[in-house]
Parts: sequence; structure tokens; C-alpha cells
Amino acid sequence: MRHIAIIGSGPAGYYTAEAAQKKWGDEVRVDIFDRLPVPYGLIRTGVAPDHQSIKGVSRRYEQTALSDNVRFVGNVTVGAVGAGQANGGGDVSIEELRGLYDAVILATGAPRDRPLDMPGDGLRNVYGSAAFVGWYNGHPEFAGLAPDLSGDTAVVIGMGNVALDVARILAKTGEEFTGSDIVGHALEALQASKLKRVVILGRRGPHQIMMTPKELGELGHLSRAAPRVDPADLPDEGDDALLEPGIRKSVTHLRGFAAIPESFRADMEIDVEFDFFAAPKALLGEGKVEAIEVERTRIDGGRAVGTGEFYEILASLVISCIGYRTSPIAGVPFDERAGRFANDEGRILPGLYCVGWARRGPSGTIGTNRPDGFGVIDMVAADLESGTLPSASRKGRAGFDELAQARGIEVVTFRDWKKIEEAEAARAREGAPREKFVDVAEMIRARD
Ligand code: NAP
Repeated sequence: MRHIAIIGSGPAGYYTAEAAQKKWGDEVRVDIFDRLPVPYGLIRTGVAPDHQSIKGVSRRYEQTALSDNVRFVGNVTVGAVGAGQANGGGDVSIEELRGLYDAVILATGAPRDRPLDMPGDGLRNVYGSAAFVGWYNGHPEFAGLAPDLSGDTAVVIGMGNVALDVARILAKTGEEFTGSDIVGHALEALQASKLKRVVILGRRGPHQIMMTPKELGELGHLSRAAPRVDPADLPDEGDDALLEPGIRKSVTHLRGFAAIPESFRADMEIDVEFDFFAAPKALLGEGKVEAIEVERTRIDGGRAVGTGEFYEILASLVISCIGYRTSPIAGVPFDERAGRFANDEGRILPGLYCVGWARRGPSGTIGTNRPDGFGVIDMVAADLESGTLPSASRKGRAGFDELAQARGIEVVTFRDWKKIEEAEAARAREGAPREKFVDVAEMIRARD
């Protein structure tokens, strides 16, 4: 029997479990740990609430979760035992798990914001996207964020799909959230928002955006907001032919936005403005953010180079969407510069692996994690066969259960989750699939 522990129940975690099942069939027992009592990681708390079709992928994970040889072990934090959660402490340590399972695979994603690291980044109403997205998606850690939306300009830093998600959520009307699972507190706050302008700030140009065409196209179909692109920022159309097809389509959208007539904009309440060649340098304000200082850039060999020309954009809210970092775990080597576990193609230490964003950083689509999951299981299988892994017989889940009982760890099972899910569906507003619990204690109460 193979005993596999997967830490993290997001896409990378469930694809890895699926791969283990395919590889070993009845000869494997997989435990998927999550620090939250609810599964699916980024699918629940990262994917935009108005992108329900993307969230539908969790049905595939449920098939894996419901098989007898895969178990969800929720509400268990892996970290230094006894250190307290604020200090990276946990219920069970990596060393303990390595002693119990043949392989421990970290699928913990990249849940921390890459810091902006500039003067003023500690001002009020400046948030990273992990926090802001967590707020409108009901992540227990960020549900209490309470951003102030009473000013008129939000600046969104970065030109990736997360920046697009954030800009779109800020620009939508209440009706446009029908059918979404945006949490009630965020919907209420957004409906009372006084924003008139959302500026998307990119340090490079239209040819260097990271936004994918389908997602970018949505910005052209909002009911009270229209995108604005300055035609002067667009490179010669002939140069688009040199682009990779996805980016080329995105740039075609930008060209369409640049051609939107002012008469169309006149009926719109919110301007969503693309500010290219604009590198943020400092956040300004007394206590709360009031403006952002930006340096004009030019592109040199694909890189943004400062021109020495500075200007300010008045900003009542700033959200930086510039990428994520993995949370370190005590006892696991960490690559500080890259912001993820130090690993060689997924191998960290004997019997310890990583997969998905925890291995390669925050890039790619949800589906990218599937081959990643299958790849790490091939690696575990090869290491088991070659005898690279210590050969002591492991107790696996029975050993963890003993430890959990001795330590009084309150484990949430997949069956418990199904009760929480039912309770969330039962309290949903009309047309919505669920109203998420945003508090861990509330989630746990809902299963009882
Ligand atoms: P991303 O695609 O890597 O984009 C990050 C953006 O931040 C880039 O425009 C980057 O500009 C900019 N940036 C980085 N550091 C900066 C700095 N110091 N100052 C100014 N700008 C800076 O990351 P993401 O948007 O967080 O998305 C993460 C992954 O999730 C991506 O693979 C994305 O496609 C995926 N995702 C997909 C969807 C979807 O499909 N619907 C939704 C959300 C996220 P440079 O290029 O100049 O570095």
C-alpha cells in the first residue's frame, strides 16, 4: 500500500490525487489536507465569483474526493507544532507527516501577495490582490477587510488576469452579479461604491499585457462602465502579426476599446482606463492613500525602462495585482527570491515534493496543474521503485488519525463539507448558487 499526503485541496492537490489513483488504483491511500474546513482552494476563493463556469471544475475534483481511497482532511494546518498560528505554527509538522506517509506533496499554491515594496505601501486602502480578491470571495482571512469605496478613483496595478478580475468586479452593477457567488458583504459594499474611474496601470505596453482575450473581451460588455485605451499608446497594427496568437487577440480587443466613441462613453458611470508605460513609484497620502506617483517608461528589449518623467494619479483606493508568493512552512527549504519552495522539478527532500504554484510560481491556467499533478506522481513512483525513498513501513492515515486524536485536532471530513455546502446553498440569495460562510467557526457549526 502507498500512503500519500497532499497538502492543499486546490486544483494542484486534486489533480495530484487523481493521478495517484490512476497510478496505483486500490494500492494507494491519499489524504488531502487543508487548513480551511472547505475544499478547492483557489477555485473557491480565487476564481472570480462571476465566473461560475470556471468554478464548475470542482465537480471533477468531487469525483476524486468521493472515491474510497482519497480522503479530505480539512481544518488541519501543517506547520511548527506549538508555535501558534500567527507564527506559522500548525497542528501537525512536516516532519511528522514525512514519518507517516511514503510521500508528502505540497500543493499549497501561492496565497500571499508579492509586496509592492515602495514608499507608502502601508497606507490605508492599499491592498494586494490576495487580500482584495479574498475579501469579495469570502476567504476567512480577508472577509473583514472592509475596503473604503467612497472615493472616486481606484488604481489597479498590473496587467494580468487578476488585475482584470479586480477592475471588472469594481465596475459591475449589482444586477451584473446575478448568478454569481460574490459574498453578501462585498456585494453590499460594491453597490454603495462611489467609484467613477478605475485606472489599470501597466509598467509596459499593449504588446506586453498578460491578459487573455476572453477575459479582456468581457470588459467591453459591462452595463455601466466602458474601457478606455489611448490610441497613441498602441503600436503599429502591422507589428501585431509578430505576437503569439493569444496576445494578438487581446491586443485586438485593446484596439477595439481605443475606437469606442465618446458618445457611447457619455452614458457610462465608470471609466476603466488603461494607463500603459506607467511604473508605480510611491503611494502618497496622510494615513490613507490619496495618490500614486508614477514614472513614464519606454520599452527597451522588452523591458520597462524609466524615462525620468514623473506624474501623479489621484487615487482613493489602490489594489496591486502583481503576483503571489507561497507561504513558507517550517522545515521546508524556501527560495526567498522566487517566493516558492526550493525544489528540483518538484523534488524538495527525500519523500517531500511540491506541485502547482507551490512548485513553479503563480502562472498558467487551472488546467496547467493537471499535467503537473501527473508529473509529480510519476516522480514519486520512480523514487519509490528506485529505492530512493526511505523504505520504513508507514502507518499512513491510521497513524495520522492516532495523532489527531491524541492532539485533539478537530478534523473536517468531506462528508462534513457536503453539509456545509448544503447549508451555504440553503442560505443563498435568489439566483445565487451559495452564500459562503466567511468564518471558520461558522463553517464548523454548519456541519453539526
Ligand atoms: P500575471 O499574469 O503574472 O500578471 C502580473 C502583472 O503584474 C503583469 O502585468 C506584471 O507586469 C505586473 N507587475 C509585476 N510586478 C510589478 C511591479 N513591481 N510593478 C508594476 N507591475 C508589476 O499574474 P496575475 O494576474 O496575478 O495572474 C496569475 C495567474 O493566474 C496567471 O497565470 C493568470 O493568467 C491566472 N489567472 C487566470 C484567470 C482566468 O483565466 N480567468 C483569472 C485570474 C488569474 P510585467 O509583465 O511588466 O512584469
